[in-house]
Amino acid sequence: MEEKKRLLVVSAHAADYVWRAGGTIAHYIQKGAPVRVIVLSLGVRGESNHLWKTPGVTPQEVADIRRRETFAAAKALGIQNLQCWELEDYPLRATPELESRLVEELRRFRPDILLSHDRFDILNPDHNQVSELVFRCSVISNSAGVQVGDTAATRQMGIFGFEPHQTELSRYRPGCFIDITDSFPQKKAAMACFQAQSHLIQYYTDRAAMRGNHARRLSGNGAIAYAESFSAFFPYAGDGFVV
Ligand SMILES: [Zn+2]
Repeated sequence: MEEKKRLLVVSAHAADYVWRAGGTIAHYIQKGAPVRVIVLSLGVRGESNHLWKTPGVTPQEVADIRRRETFAAAKALGIQNLQCWELEDYPLRATPELESRLVEELRRFRPDILLSHDRFDILNPDHNQVSELVFRCSVISNSAGVQVGDTAATRQMGIFGFEPHQTELSRYRPGCFIDITDSFPQKKAAMACFQAQSHLIQYYTDRAAMRGNHARRLSGNGAIAYAESFSAFFPYAGDGFVV
């Protein structure tokens, strides 16, 4: 993934983009790339179990906490352009209205790179729904015959998938590694914003160190301490070497 490209991130729930792409997002922002993050749902029903342990807590209260947390995490990563669409989760439904809204978003923001969930997550149907939705919307957005207001069709964008939580069980295969050594302190600060999922901080710290090891070996750059990996939906196509 090159720098200064426009990056659109689509996250099924409030914290997914932080665990799986927070370092990459902060890295891109540091380099001056335009970045937009869409959080489709706050994960009130399915990814807030710890918050539901409070007796008498309401869905509205859980939503308020999750909203506060994701905006705090976004701030830690330097994200200025975060949208919370606040759809219901578990299940997150890919309705025709959602599809139209996302296609229009793609047409208006016009990303070079689309970052979202990988095609298969063994334990999370919402993630699978979003992966399929994002891919489908990108194809629709690229189609000139699809008319959306005054927008023009987009060109093919690079699509990259988040590493799922259960990597091997989800048949995940890394397609690229991004050095997040510089932005890792921001990722740690962002992860700490989610009280319902604090048990995941060590897990994703370990993951970043492991991927950092792989990135060092593959790149020959011994300075890489932390990395994030992404699946590549498509093989590289171009006239130059990938650097
Ligand atoms: Zn999720």
